Amino acid sequence: MISVEMNPNIIRNIRKVEPYVPGEQPQNRVVKLNTNENPYPPAPGVERVLAEMDTDRFRLYPDPSAAKLVSALAEHHHVGEDQVFVGVGSDDVLAMCFLTFFNSEKPVLFPDITYSFYKVWAELYRIPYECPKLDGDFRIVKEDYRRESGGVIFPNPNAPTAIYEELDFVEDILAHHPDEVVIVDEAYIDFAGRSALELLGRYNNLIVVRTFSKARSMAGMRIGYAVSNPSLIRYLNDVKYSFNSYTMSQVSIACGAEAVRDQAYFQKTIQKIVETREWAKEELQKLGFEFPDSRANFIFARHPRYDAGELFEALKKQDIYVRHWDSERIRQYLRITIGTREEMEQLFAALRTYFKNRT
Ligand SMILES: *Cc1c(COP(=O)(O)O)cnc(C)c1O
Repeated sequence: MISVEMNPNIIRNIRKVEPYVPGEQPQNRVVKLNTNENPYPPAPGVERVLAEMDTDRFRLYPDPSAAKLVSALAEHHHVGEDQVFVGVGSDDVLAMCFLTFFNSEKPVLFPDITYSFYKVWAELYRIPYECPKLDGDFRIVKEDYRRESGGVIFPNPNAPTAIYEELDFVEDILAHHPDEVVIVDEAYIDFAGRSALELLGRYNNLIVVRTFSKARSMAGMRIGYAVSNPSLIRYLNDVKYSFNSYTMSQVSIACGAEAVRDQAYFQKTIQKIVETREWAKEELQKLGFEFPDSRANFIFARHPRYDAGELFEALKKQDIYVRHWDSERIRQYLRITIGTREEMEQLFAALRTYFKNRT
């Protein structure tokens, strides 16, 4: 055992951060409804590409520009290859965006209840920020964003509320921030509605960030991307190449490019999840839960009679994992990922039993 007295001067010079806490990844078989993963496998072509991979090439560094993946995405979204930036999950892409675009003395704006990583990056990079409060129905108040800022970021649909805002809302925020970058984090857009990508031609301050982790069933592959105009994408690449040139592995480049091509499978999977979601809303209502209308692959629900923390623990005991945050305003809510119909049945059965035994 090494025991060294720590020099306080060393400690003083350390960049101290409060890290993001990811949802649990239990390694045994559980009903996993806690991190918004997709219950269905990725496009079948991905398995083939993986089987055909030439492992001898693993000796070599991957293509730093991930050109195959960038070009598949550019084709998919009908944009130029110089309009796409890829990274190791959208977390990597977003972290690069914070570092690149939020470099003002003025505060970056994002909602008080949103993806909790935004605050972590702002703190890590010493970016000033302010968090306008969601209203009583958990909606973003667009008027609160009509002020001087160093940029804006929000997810649409928002997380963990699952509320989707129409494009006129997104456009209002873009129009009020002509001098700053506005990032729309569209992790759940495929379950929701129209994408801000439609606005790219009209707003040169817009960056749309997407992920393969939710709708594309590839959280384990770590692929995310940003779409914007060539100028902002160039700045993003300059920072990325000042940080780590080889972010995307050969495997994620090949599998990601293949997944994008199978549009039919993608649509079918999304359709299944949306159908399960709509049915789950009815079931949750019957059980007495209250929730904002979800347009994502999860539902943010509270029960007027049962404590969310207790429900969370009771479900976990039965190997059913949902997400719960012990933080202000959302303490009484559970975020429940939409799994397969069977997984949801198991959740509802466990809830029914719990309610029966509690009363
Ligand atoms: C899941 C999620 C991400 C991160 O996704 P990865 O691509 O897996 O890093 C980013 N933003 C929001 C809002 C998310 O829910």
